[in-house]
Amino acid sequence: MLPNFSLVDFLYLCGKITKKPMDTIQIKDKTFAISIPESAILKQVQRVANAIEHDYAGQNPLFLVVLNGAFVFAADLIRAVRLPSEVTFVKLSSYEGMSSTGVIKSMIGLNTDLTGRPVIIVEDIIDSGQTMVHLLDEIAAQNPASVAVCTLLVKPDNLKVKLDVKYCCMEIPNDFIVGYGLDYDGYGRNLRDIYTVVE
Ligand code: 5GP
Ligand code: MG
Repeated sequence: MLPNFSLVDFLYLCGKITKKPMDTIQIKDKTFAISIPESAILKQVQRVANAIEHDYAGQNPLFLVVLNGAFVFAADLIRAVRLPSEVTFVKLSSYEGMSSTGVIKSMIGLNTDLTGRPVIIVEDIIDSGQTMVHLLDEIAAQNPASVAVCTLLVKPDNLKVKLDVKYCCMEIPNDFIVGYGLDYDGYGRNLRDIYTVVE
């Protein structure tokens, strides 16, 4: 049998079962179902990379990646932007389990001089928007040439602040998700697809 080809796939193809069960996984106490397959994610990442490449032609953008969640997105995005660029990281944390504590902790601070640089913030997901506002304030204090927000996902229904999100791959409903860098209590970051909690 082919790799990644399960008995259920086989029975479905043979017509022995009529409905393929939802692709679900278990992480700790929660069940998650695939909501955005890797192919759809990568298509949107490429679209955003093309836009950045177009908008920053002739400049050397500095990608400021927000750890931990954005590391997978950043790796794909930055390699798809065919411009001379630099990468730096900050580590922020506001989530515990499945909800935001509202208190943004800076675990690794800004350690690159942003003065006069065109900065592109690379974030995994904008939920309430509080993390981004906090970061934008910190960055503005360093007088960069420009700042743009680039995020894999936005949950528009949960946004509590006004934010100018220049680059966004996808908008999603207000449900908890994991995969493609995003975690549930530290797990699930290595999943290639994005999964939504079902129970
Ligand atoms: P905000 O400050 O916008 O409310 O929260 C942003 C941060 O919360 C994101 O960078 C991400 O780390 C985390 N977050 C928000 N929604 C989700 C979600 O559905 N799943 C996961 N794993 N993290 C999330
Ligand atoms: Mg994040």
